[in-house]
Amino acid sequence: MEPTRLKIGEGIISGYVSIFLAILSLLGILCFKFPEYLTTSDLRNVYSPKMVETLMLFSIISSFGFALLSFYLSNKKKHAVIAMTLCFSAILLGGFTVEGRSVEKANWSLGLDWLLLDLFLMVLIFVPLELAFPKNKKQTKFHSEWRTDLLYFTISHLLIQFFGIVSQKPAVAFFGWLNLGVLHTWVQSLPFFIELFLALFLTDLFQYWAHRFFHTNLYLFKFHAIHHSTRNMDWLAGSRTHFVDIFVVRSMSFIPLYVMGFSTITFSVYIVFIAIHAVLIHANTRVNFGVLRYIITTPQYHHWHHCKEPEFYGKNFAVVFPFIDMIFGTYYLPKNTWPKGTGLEETDFPKGFVKQMIYPFKTSPFNNPLPKNEKSQR
Ligand SMILES: [Zn+2]
Ligand SMILES: [Zn+2]
Repeated sequence: MEPTRLKIGEGIISGYVSIFLAILSLLGILCFKFPEYLTTSDLRNVYSPKMVETLMLFSIISSFGFALLSFYLSNKKKHAVIAMTLCFSAILLGGFTVEGRSVEKANWSLGLDWLLLDLFLMVLIFVPLELAFPKNKKQTKFHSEWRTDLLYFTISHLLIQFFGIVSQKPAVAFFGWLNLGVLHTWVQSLPFFIELFLALFLTDLFQYWAHRFFHTNLYLFKFHAIHHSTRNMDWLAGSRTHFVDIFVVRSMSFIPLYVMGFSTITFSVYIVFIAIHAVLIHANTRVNFGVLRYIITTPQYHHWHHCKEPEFYGKNFAVVFPFIDMIFGTYYLPKNTWPKGTGLEETDFPKGFVKQMIYPFKTSPFNNPLPKNEKSQR
């Protein structure tokens, strides 16, 4: 049976929200207990212990509130019972009394704090947006492979430090010998918005060519095709990106950031903007941003990049500025039409994160039909 969309007032959404917040709280407690290994040094500079303590308190109390609401509204008490059990576990483990403490910068750590904060923020922004203004109404939140995409999201966030270090290597190797001090001083003296525009434009320009190269080189396209295997676009779909793809594109995009040496504030705003915008352009939402969509890329713009109709393949490589595609002749944005669907026709991808990671190394999705039950549905 086709699952139906979630509706307000049935107690199902409150049940899910409650379970979600309780799981975040439980994992958050681990961050408080083992900050050396589970939190990110750069992020610790952004939030204060007081902020995360308050967030934890808010999360447990809200989870409890939503569990009560779900219990009251829903005929099925299962979600409320699970959520309350998780809530009590969080309280027993010290969720109300956790205290943030300062820690020395460790050699390595997992970005569990980055994962929890970003997941919380993305769910807060995009789940209501997709519920209220969906593009594809038939698509539900919990389609068959959402766990795979969540795993991509989780692993790429946990390994933030590792990805960061590795993707900085090429820029340092190629440009580290240059004396860039004078350029950095000049860049940092520019007005904020010009600096921000330069950061977004130059990284998008480098990203554009790396991305386009992944499309034109058949060997590399096998890796990038994993990102294009998504049949149901949503806010989590963008996370489905092969590690080889992430390394190369991030390394390329880091080159202008390294060479130009933008100021800390510009760099921080750039990171936040990219983190939200990259999720937005994949989202299952019909919100179309009026004339703004000719200035900055939107879901409609990037959905065309993912379109399943072969005659429109190879368009819209830019992820921030459509004018970059206009300059290089790959721009495509009809007024109000959207692609009939997304994903690559006549390809086979295995289901699951591990199989998808290995697949492009071993074989090509373009000439290896899998048995039907092994095929990804997306
Ligand atoms: Zn692409
Ligand atoms: Zn994409």
